[in-house]
Amino acid sequence: MDFSLSPEQRMIQDSVRKFARERILPNAREWDLAQQFPRELLTDMGRLGYLGVPIPEEYGGAGLDYIAEAIVFEEIGYADSSVRTTLSVQMSLVELTILKWGTEAQKMHYLPRLCSGEWIGSFGLTEPNAGSDAANVQTTARRDGDDWVLNGQKVWISNATIADMAIIFAQTAPGTKSKGMVAFLLETDTAGYTTRKMTGKLGLRASDTGEIFMENLRLPDSARLGQVGEGFKIAMSALDNGRYGVASGCVGAAQHALDASVKYARERMAFGKPIAGFQLIQDMLAQMKVDVEAARLLVYQAGWTKNQGQVSTIPVSIAKYFAAEAGKRAADAAIQIHGGYGFSDEYVPERLWRDTRVASLYEGTSQIQKLIIGRDLTGIQAFE
Ligand SMILES: Cc1cc2nc3c(=O)[nH]c(=O)nc-3n(C[C@H](O)[C@H](O)[C@H](O)COP(=O)(O)OP(=O)(O)OC[C@H]3O[C@@H](n4cnc5c(N)ncnc54)[C@H](O)[C@@H]3O)c2cc1C
Repeated sequence: MDFSLSPEQRMIQDSVRKFARERILPNAREWDLAQQFPRELLTDMGRLGYLGVPIPEEYGGAGLDYIAEAIVFEEIGYADSSVRTTLSVQMSLVELTILKWGTEAQKMHYLPRLCSGEWIGSFGLTEPNAGSDAANVQTTARRDGDDWVLNGQKVWISNATIADMAIIFAQTAPGTKSKGMVAFLLETDTAGYTTRKMTGKLGLRASDTGEIFMENLRLPDSARLGQVGEGFKIAMSALDNGRYGVASGCVGAAQHALDASVKYARERMAFGKPIAGFQLIQDMLAQMKVDVEAARLLVYQAGWTKNQGQVSTIPVSIAKYFAAEAGKRAADAAIQIHGGYGFSDEYVPERLWRDTRVASLYEGTSQIQKLIIGRDLTGIQAFE
C-alpha cells in the first residue's frame, strides 16, 4: 500500500494550493458578504485545468485521476466552500455525467466549453416535492412529434441563475417514479426556461442557488441524455461523483478550521500562558486532527475505487457521511477554541461553521448516506 502522491498529483496540489490561497482565500469574506459568485474566477480556473481534472484531454480536460480531483476540491474547499460547490457541480455533477452518459456529439458540444470555464453548468434534480425522494420528480416531459415538451419547477439548484447549460431530470410517465425518469441537456437561453435566485441562506452565500421554471420548454430528442427510463440511474451515478467532491471539499474546510485553531491557540493568552497549553484545548485540536486525517483517507479510498473503475457508491457514501460530519465538528470546535472571537465574522471559523453546515444536507443528507450503507450491509432497503 502506497500513501504517497504521484509527481503529477503533487504538482497539481502545489499549483491549486497557491491559486486558492492567493486568489480565493483573501476574497472569500467579501464574496460571502456580497452574496455574489465571482464569475471571472472560473475562466482562470479553466485555463489552469482545474475545471476538468478527470476529463480526458480530447474533450478539453486535464486527463488526471480521481485523487487529483479530490486534491483540487480539498484545496479549493480550504479557501472557500462556495467556490468549491460551484466547481463540484461543474465537474462532478455535470461534466462527469455527460462523459459517462452522453453521445459523442453531446460530449464534443458541452465538455470543452465547461472545462475551459466558458460555460457554467447546473444540475436540476431537486424539486419542491422531490429532495431525498428524488424519484418523485414531477417535472413532466411529454413527447410531441419529434420533440419533447417540459413543464415543471426545480428548487435549490446550485449555479441556477448563472448557468449557461443544465442537466434536467423529468418524468415521462407520471406515477411510475424512477421507471419513467429521463434526463436532458439544455442551454439556458432556450425559450420557456427561467430562473430565480434564492437568498437568505445560512451559508454558501457566494455560491449561486436558485429555482428553475420550465414552461412549455421544447427540446429536440437529440437533447436527451441516455434513454427514457434511465434518468434515475443517471442521477444516482452523478451523485456518486458529486458526493466525492463534497467529501473532498469538507476535508479542506476541516483542515482550515484546524490550522486556524492551532495558530490562534498558540497566540491567545489566558491565565498567563497560551491556551494551546491547556489540556482541554489540545483535546479539541487532537480530535480535529484525527477527524481530518480519517476523512482524507476515506476520500482517497473512494478515489482509489474510482481509479480502478469499480462501482464506488459505498466508499463514496462512507466518505461523504464522515467528511461532512467531521467538517461540521471541526468548524464548531474552531469557534470554541476562538472563544467570543469565534462568534465574529472577523475570524474565519464563523464562515466555516455556516458553510460546512450544508454538507450533511445536499447531495444526499447524512441520513440518506446511512440508509445506503445500511442497505449494503443488510440487503434490506429502509428508505420507505
Ligand atoms: C445550498 C444547496 C445547494 C443545493 N444544490 C443542488 C443542486 O445543485 N441540484 C439539486 O438537484 N439539488 C440541490 N440541492 C438540494 C439538496 O440535494 C436537497 O436539499 C437534499 O437532497 C435534501 O432534500 P430536501 O431538502 O427536500 O429534504 P427532505 O428530503 O425533505 O429531508 C428532510 C429531512 O428528512 C430526512 N429524510 C428524508 N427521507 C428520509 C428517509 N427515508 N429516512 C430517514 N430520514 C429521511 C432527511 O435526511 C432530512 O433530515 C441543494 C441544496 C442546498 C441546501
